[in-house]
Amino acid sequence: MDESTERAGPAAERRQAAELIAEKRESTARLVASLTRLWDDVVAASALTGDDDEHDPEGQTVAFERAQLRDTLKQARGDLEALDRAASRVAGGEYWVCERCGGPIAAARLAARPTATCCIDCAGLPAR
Ligand SMILES: [Zn+2]
Repeated sequence: MDESTERAGPAAERRQAAELIAEKRESTARLVASLTRLWDDVVAASALTGDDDEHDPEGQTVAFERAQLRDTLKQARGDLEALDRAASRVAGGEYWVCERCGGPIAAARLAARPTATCCIDCAGLPAR
């Protein structure tokens, strides 16, 4: 077997992409898990204190921090879903194809943003 052509071929490219996504997915899953624990603590704490944001002098800060945590958790969960989609795009072979124009997505773009689903040109267009 000629290893040098195998390494440069589409199979190797697919394996590399799958590995990159799996790595990112693992760290994102860990992030989601710890944020979820944090969120559960916040919910438990606010249940204990009676959740009196309006009249507690620190209520505003607490409410702000809670909103931030909720947004971060939402974002992390979204990332996890995007990584799952990316993984199935790799499996289906359409990972390197732009969802908008059908053109190729540059390898450098995918290396930097494994969840990218369109090429750099389409990414600059307003959302449809
Ligand atoms: Zn495109």
